[in-house]
Amino acid sequence: MENLDRYRGGAPCLRVAHQPNFLPSVNVVAQATLTNVLNRLLGGAYAETFFVVDYDVNDDRRYRQAMLPSLPSRDGVWRLPAPPRHGAPAWMTNEEAPTPDFVGLLGSSLRVWARQQAASLPRGASRARQRARADNRLDVLVGVFEKAAADAASLADFNTLVLSWIVNQALALPTLFIPGSAALPLIAGHLAALWHSRAALTRACGAGPLWKRCVCGTRLELTEYPGSSPRFGCARCGRTGYVTDADVPELAANGEIVPRIIADDLLDAVAWGNIAGCDYRGGVSHYARSALAARDLNLASLPVFLSSRTPDARIDHLSGQDYAAALDRSPALIAAGRTSMIMPLLWADELIAARLADDMRGT
Ligand SMILES: [Zn+2]
Repeated sequence: MENLDRYRGGAPCLRVAHQPNFLPSVNVVAQATLTNVLNRLLGGAYAETFFVVDYDVNDDRRYRQAMLPSLPSRDGVWRLPAPPRHGAPAWMTNEEAPTPDFVGLLGSSLRVWARQQAASLPRGASRARQRARADNRLDVLVGVFEKAAADAASLADFNTLVLSWIVNQALALPTLFIPGSAALPLIAGHLAALWHSRAALTRACGAGPLWKRCVCGTRLELTEYPGSSPRFGCARCGRTGYVTDADVPELAANGEIVPRIIADDLLDAVAWGNIAGCDYRGGVSHYARSALAARDLNLASLPVFLSSRTPDARIDHLSGQDYAAALDRSPALIAAGRTSMIMPLLWADELIAARLADDMRGT
């Protein structure tokens, strides 16, 4: 049965949950391949989903900047920024989609990068062939960027559409992408339950379970003092107020309160119908804290396979042999899996999803 049919039929989900980073890294994309491998190992009965954590603020460096290896650069890294952010950090979904001008600049910038890399390889027919191949593949990618920018309502949308093209088209995986910001109102009842458990959660995690979303696009802390409802104050637009128990169902249904990270981990098991997850190792400390909170609240916690790229994994299947050989003296970037998927998309002889999974190891 197809993945979408399994999902519609209510099959439990094997999920990745991650922010929609700009031109995502190998590590993030590898999580979808791991989910696919895991599903096949378990008999293929589960739905494979990528839960897009797009209900966060837009200031994280990894959200805004992709990195590529660079043979001629002094530090071995070429940094590719998303469009510049204006003003204070805001909700991802409040930031506009890239303009056509930006997409044009992105394409030319990648073309310069690809030509610089080719120029650093040994001369010969193979180099000419790889340069031409990278140029042709870049034409396809720029078409993907143009369509994503035209269809997207926000930078987060654009990033998600590009990520989905990489996973669904370039790697031919069946993963379903679920924008968290659109899905959260569906579990308003679970958010209300977290709200009522906030005293225990604050004791377990050192912070309450929810953020308030200000109409101006800012993320607000909810501060609670004994004897009063949690209050918020927005430094940007000056709005202040309280959130009472009676307000919560409507705020949750309108997406105006959203889970903080520990609450996200709790919802994974209790609200979304997930059976297991695959995450990058960077989430380990949050996962441990949420597992402790789940124990304190007598809730289930989701089994998650936390992984990172094996540092000495081969890179030639991501970059082709000539480029891999030239990269020998180069960056920890690839070894750590932090290079953008743009590199394998332009340079790999053939992209095989399962090989990305093979390179990962559990924590
Ligand atoms: Zn505000």
